[in-house]
Amino acid sequence: MKSEVESLLLQYKEEDKDGLLEYISSVIQSKGDRWERSTQGEDCELTQMLIYEYVTSLEKISGGRLSSKFLVDKMARNLHTLRYGNFREGKDDSIQYGNQSVTSRNYNMSRPGAHTIQVSLDDELSQAVVLFDGSQKTEDGKKLNGINLNDLDDIRHTIFHEWTHVMEKSLIPRRELNPDEIIYKEGNSTYINASASADFDDLGYYLEYIAYAQNNTENPVAFGGVSTIEINPQKSSRRIMHNQISEGFTDYVSRLVMNQVGRQVKDPSRYENQVELAKKVFESREIESTITDYITAPYKIISELEKGKIHGKDLLHYYQYIESMLSYVDRTATRYMGKDADILKQQVEEFWKNPPTREDAENFIGTTFNKMSENSQEFAKQDKSRIHDAFYNVIYFPTIKKEYVNEIENHYRIIQTPPGHTESAVEGNNTTPSSRDDGDER
Ligand SMILES: [Zn+2]
Repeated sequence: MKSEVESLLLQYKEEDKDGLLEYISSVIQSKGDRWERSTQGEDCELTQMLIYEYVTSLEKISGGRLSSKFLVDKMARNLHTLRYGNFREGKDDSIQYGNQSVTSRNYNMSRPGAHTIQVSLDDELSQAVVLFDGSQKTEDGKKLNGINLNDLDDIRHTIFHEWTHVMEKSLIPRRELNPDEIIYKEGNSTYINASASADFDDLGYYLEYIAYAQNNTENPVAFGGVSTIEINPQKSSRRIMHNQISEGFTDYVSRLVMNQVGRQVKDPSRYENQVELAKKVFESREIESTITDYITAPYKIISELEKGKIHGKDLLHYYQYIESMLSYVDRTATRYMGKDADILKQQVEEFWKNPPTREDAENFIGTTFNKMSENSQEFAKQDKSRIHDAFYNVIYFPTIKKEYVNEIENHYRIIQTPPGHTESAVEGNNTTPSSRDDGDER
């Protein structure tokens, strides 16, 4: 890897007219041992190369709206710690995830492949990023999550994703925000659109935050991409995370950067469905301005999507609703069908290839319910209509997803047409072939 990194850096040096590589190098230097320069045992400037690729790509993708210098400065502000392989005992002990130190055994047993974590409760922007070594095992030989740190493209896709989590965090002055851009209510749910983080189970903290956000008029508000937090005491006594759709946005941005660098994403199945929805948002409201808003003013995208509707829910949170159906059916099947749950999953996947008629779907659900009742007496006590609805959503998932994507496109077509000018905008299209709606037709 060292020789690959060195030869790329030489190549970048030739195109780098503004001394950007030097500037990145001085920032890395100023971070001392908080930012690692490379993976263990590879003595090279991997971090410098990756930052250069990331910021110059975003500058190009944004059509120059985001300058490389601005992006390096934002990263210097937001990225507190950068680790390859693992967090460092002795140096990172005080960083906590859900009340556990990131150097603890418990955290490592359930760690993801890579992670971005808020470093301190008082500073929402400050983040620690780690790319875990996927070859690590526990003492008893259990494989731990991680990526292939010998594969530069695995590192790229992963770190561009994690850095986007770092860069999507912004402080927005209060005077630029409407109250419903911070706290959004729908039915029994209250969504905190801001990035408010505390003990995951501490509902009191979030209720207090909501009251504070509604009263306070001075302090700036932190946003974290399009991630929101749902508070609904009727559904749950803890916060309900809504970060699934936001993962799609983050991964879509990392794929744009991969593409700009001329590299292929090796595992396109990462957040595949979420990426499809994010792509539709970016393309419907134009990629250049959307990447810019995402990095500097994500609240605009949040509230636009919250204003759109699909099957009685808003466009931002509908995906999480469907996603929770998928995992609910999964859990229900495992619980009441045991080993046969796998057969059921295969049947559902067959339906995804050939959507059944309503009658066939009803028959399938009926047969499945019978099997579950035979298998477990517990099943009789369950809420059948809820399980029925969940199965229905799961069986028609590809159809629902298509509707969803169309609805996003529709929504942006409507909000980008000035109110009261629908007629003339349509006429305008006939006489001006260069107008943007025309370009959107494919
Ligand atoms: Zn992520």
